[in-house]
Amino acid sequence: MTASPAIVILGPSALATGRLIQALYPQAVIHGLSGRVEADQAYDDFGDTLRSLYRSDTPIIALCAAGIVIRSLAPLLANKGAEPPVLAVAEDGSAVVPLLGGLGGVNRMAREIAAELQVSAAITTSGELRFGTCLLDPPNGYVLADIEQGKHFVSDLLGGESLRVDGDAPWLEQGKLPMAEDAGRTLHITTAQRTTRPDELLIHPRTLLALVEDADNLAARIGQTFEQAGLAQKSLAALLAPQTLMSDKQLAQVAADLAVPLRFIGADDALPPQVKHSGNLQLLQAASPDAAQTIGRPRGRLSVIGLGPGAAEHMTPAVRRALDEAQDLLGYETYVRMAEPLRDDQVRHCSDNREELQRARHAFELAASGRRVVVISSGDPGVFAMAAAVLEALEETAAPAEWHAVKLQVLPGVSAALATAAKAGAPLGHDFCLISLSDNLKPWAVIENRLDHAGAADLAMAFYNPISKARPWQLGRALDIVRTHRTPDTVVVLGRDIGRPAEALRVLSLGELTPEMVDMRTLVIIGSSQTRRFPRGDGDEWVYTPRSYPQP
Ligand code: SAH
Repeated sequence: MTASPAIVILGPSALATGRLIQALYPQAVIHGLSGRVEADQAYDDFGDTLRSLYRSDTPIIALCAAGIVIRSLAPLLANKGAEPPVLAVAEDGSAVVPLLGGLGGVNRMAREIAAELQVSAAITTSGELRFGTCLLDPPNGYVLADIEQGKHFVSDLLGGESLRVDGDAPWLEQGKLPMAEDAGRTLHITTAQRTTRPDELLIHPRTLLALVEDADNLAARIGQTFEQAGLAQKSLAALLAPQTLMSDKQLAQVAADLAVPLRFIGADDALPPQVKHSGNLQLLQAASPDAAQTIGRPRGRLSVIGLGPGAAEHMTPAVRRALDEAQDLLGYETYVRMAEPLRDDQVRHCSDNREELQRARHAFELAASGRRVVVISSGDPGVFAMAAAVLEALEETAAPAEWHAVKLQVLPGVSAALATAAKAGAPLGHDFCLISLSDNLKPWAVIENRLDHAGAADLAMAFYNPISKARPWQLGRALDIVRTHRTPDTVVVLGRDIGRPAEALRVLSLGELTPEMVDMRTLVIIGSSQTRRFPRGDGDEWVYTPRSYPQP
């Protein structure tokens, strides 16, 4: 999966065009120069930003002069490393100029963007202009055998040679290629391994499947089998294995090393014809690259993720990737909305009910059918959130075996206590505890007991779920217990909607604190006896708990 593009803008005048392009690539992030324009993400230095995007192989759509882009990337161009598509687009949308990344599909992107902006793309690649297609950038499911040889081939065609196609190249039918029966140049579309002659271009369709029964020494065995069969390993479309191997780590590693999908077949799956058999490994021939990707099904994946407190910049890249790759998303509607941008093809299973276990089971059912599923929590998924519910559902004796074969992962996020603490300074800089004041899933007496012990132990405390309409009196009772251990001048921090547009932070004393100041969107931090506060330059206050504790 290639990275989503980055749209980079310098000022507000480019924002409208940026959003139009974003509509075309919903996962694209708009990077705006800080202080000049409010975009999805702020940056400070244009050149550094462009270079780091380039190095991480991110397609770049820069809404500014082509010259600025060229000058910024120039130092990186000498050594051929990653070369993502790079385009300059006039900020008013009147021109689209593909600059770099010819083999990464830059011209295709330029055409898409130009169509969206209703202008024509400034395509300058001769072969593509003349032939209406880039022979060296075949569509998904096809791979070029040798790029260097390919370049010569295209320049020969530009020099007047004609071409004959041997094999099946459906995407070339619309092109303006110089076809002739008795052509001097031949394009072979074949799974066969052959040494290419200068008058040939070789493209391998990914139509071969390796059906395996175990993972021992598999990479080497696949290599040998292809060689014995005279077939090109670049034509390998996927590994197929029986469902019993779904959790096999070695097999997953081999597929990852070979950069091919791993799919699993059941007893009654129809398989394409065999072209080679060697020991317990078979090569099967699918009818087309598309057909090759429909045999069997992938191992389903269930990612339990934490969005962080709210702002996109506090979401980890791993979580963003899991969201981008998801086919199904489950969670409270508010959280699913916070996970945007999402694509239309991603299914949202929003629920407002409190049936966490039910949601966890639903997630496993989807994942066990081979889908990529994400269960969304705010903050961290392991802190008073869905990760524990998901594991509880899995440990149930009634959980079907297929659920255990799902690739389950928990991806951490920034929890509300940490986000609130960071805003205030470092109130959790010494030992602390996290307590949910909700007695929905535990007896109130247990909460009282824990508050009493945490108070006696002089731990700083962060209260989650401090109060709600259904639980109106509990916070007052909790504060009564805390006050038996702490003086009225104990420092308190209230964080409400931290990381969200309505964010509010308040520093006060335990003596001043009343339950009316708190609602269910608030995180309450009660300092220890050592927690301190002092004025900031801007009139607010810093709060911290020193790292060292006084000797008795
Ligand atoms: N998994 C979440 C917590 C879920 S419990 C996390 O790790 O943050 C829900 C409680 O978390 C709320 O009642 C509130 O006390 C707190 N909370 C969650 N997000 C918050 C935010 N952005 N600002 C302040 N408190 C928040």
